[in-house]
Amino acid sequence: MAKELALYTFIDAFGYEIYQQHPYFLEDIIEEAKPLQSVLGFTNTCLPSILSGKYPQEHGEASPFFYSDPSPFGWMMKYLSYLPKWLDYSKVRSMLSSMVKHLHHYRGNFQLYAIPFDKLIYFDVTQKQDYFVSNGPFETIFDACVKHQINYHCSDWRQSETENINTMHTKVQEAKIRFGWLHLPTLDEIMHTHGTQSDQTTQKIQWLDAQIRGIYNEALKHYDKVSLYILSDQGMYDVTQRVDLINEIESLELIYGQDYVAMYEATMARFWFKTAEAKEKITQKLKTIESGDILDDRELKKMKSYFKDGRFGELIFLMQPSIMIHPNYFENKPMNGMHGYHPNASGSNALLLSNQTIPHDVTSITDIRRTMEYELRASL
Ligand SMILES: [Zn+2]
Repeated sequence: MAKELALYTFIDAFGYEIYQQHPYFLEDIIEEAKPLQSVLGFTNTCLPSILSGKYPQEHGEASPFFYSDPSPFGWMMKYLSYLPKWLDYSKVRSMLSSMVKHLHHYRGNFQLYAIPFDKLIYFDVTQKQDYFVSNGPFETIFDACVKHQINYHCSDWRQSETENINTMHTKVQEAKIRFGWLHLPTLDEIMHTHGTQSDQTTQKIQWLDAQIRGIYNEALKHYDKVSLYILSDQGMYDVTQRVDLINEIESLELIYGQDYVAMYEATMARFWFKTAEAKEKITQKLKTIESGDILDDRELKKMKSYFKDGRFGELIFLMQPSIMIHPNYFENKPMNGMHGYHPNASGSNALLLSNQTIPHDVTSITDIRRTMEYELRASL
């Protein structure tokens, strides 16, 4: 029997528009390149859609935090909110993230980000379990591999990108795996920091080209057929404007926690209301802000990101592409690149490249799972 490998290489934020600016990328290997529509949210929402083939309202990972009364770490954060502000720097936060993770047995990629301690007491964390292993919070391609005894290797997101590249190199040399997931997250960090047009971005894309080429050529020595797929979760926009939305909302003189609760992400603000007055005032205020739009239920249903119980926001305000909410609860520094905009915006498009033919009906990141099943069809 011919020895086959299906290798899926995930490059975080390598959108279709960015790929088009680097046409040399694996040019001689790739047969087809397609833009894919993404889903509303960030990487931690897109990846579940890619691995499960489902939309956010189906897999439930629409945002890293959701409103919860009571909050599982309320007692702890109440004390921490009394800590002097200068203590609230990244090292303390990352230490606390590990502590919270350990205390609550979270196995997912949990971080406290920059959420103020006195605000965290209104939330619970979505990703309590790791979805890169079988028996995670929803069914994924890894479950299918385990169920059908398909040998596979999935990069460990806790390891560095270089370590994961080296491990995949060894795995293809050993030639025991039928399916591989190579996880490459650092282009995302570089574009967030330096923007999409920076030298650092170009150098990184050239470096990724060389790394993937190396693994692919090695795989060709050990397998009769190698199906190579390069995919991303969404694109990246250069940030041209920053809006202090927190200040706008606080100017209404409502009391956080008593009148309303809000989660400020880089491109989205999520609100929960405790009084009718707060709902009215915040809604009216948001309608005057031209740099973003309120997503109504019809729009959320179209995007398949609708939650009847309002878990991820009774009202969601989404910024227009290239405009960022700053300050927000996720980044301390102002970023130069950002994503998490409307999935219909062309710069939001994800990417699928392959040395195989990609079927016409593969148009969304939720269709990638079908290509995996097609590759593994003889074993499923
Ligand atoms: Zn990102």
